[in-house]
Amino acid sequence: MDTNLPLSFTPAVGDLPFTARQRSLLSLAHELGRTRFAPRAAQWDETATFPFANYDDLRDAGLLRLCVPEAHGGLGADYATYMMVAAEIGRFCGATALTWNMHISSTMWTGVLADGIAMTDAERTEHARRSALHFGRVVNHGAIYAQPFSEGSAAAAGRAPFGTTAKKVDGGWRINGRKIFASLAGAAHYYGVLCTEDKGDEHPDARDTLYISVPATAPGFSISGDWDPLGMRGTVSRNLHFQDVFVSDDEQLMPRGIYFKGAQTWPAMFFTLSPTYLGLANAAYDFTVRYLRGEINEATGAPVQPGERSVKRRMFPTKQIAVAQMRIQLESMRALFTRAIAEARPNPSKDERMRLYAAHFSVMEGANDIARLAIRTCGGQSMMKHLPLERLYRDSRCGSLMLPWTAELVLDRMGRETLYEAGERDD
Ligand SMILES: Cc1cc2nc3c(=O)[nH]c(=O)nc-3n(C[C@H](O)[C@H](O)[C@H](O)COP(=O)(O)OP(=O)(O)OC[C@H]3O[C@@H](n4cnc5c(N)ncnc54)[C@H](O)[C@@H]3O)c2cc1C
Repeated sequence: MDTNLPLSFTPAVGDLPFTARQRSLLSLAHELGRTRFAPRAAQWDETATFPFANYDDLRDAGLLRLCVPEAHGGLGADYATYMMVAAEIGRFCGATALTWNMHISSTMWTGVLADGIAMTDAERTEHARRSALHFGRVVNHGAIYAQPFSEGSAAAAGRAPFGTTAKKVDGGWRINGRKIFASLAGAAHYYGVLCTEDKGDEHPDARDTLYISVPATAPGFSISGDWDPLGMRGTVSRNLHFQDVFVSDDEQLMPRGIYFKGAQTWPAMFFTLSPTYLGLANAAYDFTVRYLRGEINEATGAPVQPGERSVKRRMFPTKQIAVAQMRIQLESMRALFTRAIAEARPNPSKDERMRLYAAHFSVMEGANDIARLAIRTCGGQSMMKHLPLERLYRDSRCGSLMLPWTAELVLDRMGRETLYEAGERDD
């Protein structure tokens, strides 16, 4: 592939001055998405099953190791590049992009993000050795990682210690507890669990959060519960149980205490859930334009062929206005998103942090706004199950529910952090 050629499509993040590497990765994601993921998307949604075939394609294309450092055999993509590529995948299959985010984050947090977190020399050395093992699993064995944090309590909201505990034992850790909403349940080879170190003093403390990988084959680990949700059905986010699960010391994905520091140092780590939804917003917009132009056969969902009868709806001023509104919202989402990924870094300024929250909120709520307008303006036949719009509408509703930055909690943080400087109180 000639990486100097201009792109033949406008990426989900918009047209930016991409590097040659970014153009090449975006082209790869776009092609995979268009030819493989989009045709399969309805299948995972209908059956609420995991997109294994898409993961085989991601693995073959090298995209499971996108954020593994080059020195460890990965593609060494930085934060911004990952976010652009993820949006492109989200355009074609939301469930694939969202679960891929859980996997990629497991390599990005331990890779490029960990590089920006303060550690002692001893911690840095320990982390380098253990992360090499973990990168090796992805690079050499195509391993898939999940990121189960949620417990149904205030913990995933960042407001309480995790109830899942890890107790130090000879040679490793003994883990007990339960996680809910674990995307990739049953598909992942390793589950990167956040848990609280049980120091035996009955005083769990969020500063003692550990980030530990549990192999799917570990005795005492089990998966339970049904999965029949509104949207993002292919994520298969079921419950996990840990009953005296022993894992060796080397399963620690970060040294003790470093996750807590990382969450404070790198707020952009939580923004990685949003590109999936920027992709979905693009998909709803793209569909609307093609549908109103009469390029999609509403009976079959197939592209209208030359000579085939086609219903155009583009001549109605109300539909033109709706498309304009959708484009305005999409452009503002893209503008905030691309600014936020360009300035993502450890210890951002207050303005950068506010922009990050604003970008996250705009994408998560905006994606569903665009999907809602898309259905309203395309009309009754457009919401049938053989067309993608109703799936995009359901999938796009799910972004705002994701902790720690639900739409509500972002508003909460922005309001509070605008009106109060760190440490300020009213009493
Ligand atoms: C499709 C999908 C995939 C997911 N995949 C994963 C995954 O892979 N890994 C993972 O860890 N999680 C995942 N989640 C879970 C997600 O991040 C949330 O944890 C989950 O949606 C929260 O559900 P809940 O009913 O417990 O939420 P809520 O009840 O909204 O929140 C839980 C708790 O957080 C606190 N809280 C929430 N809102 C507020 C507020 N406004 N003010 C103050 N406190 C508040 C409260 O203590 C509340 O009890 C996924 C969710 C979805 C929809």
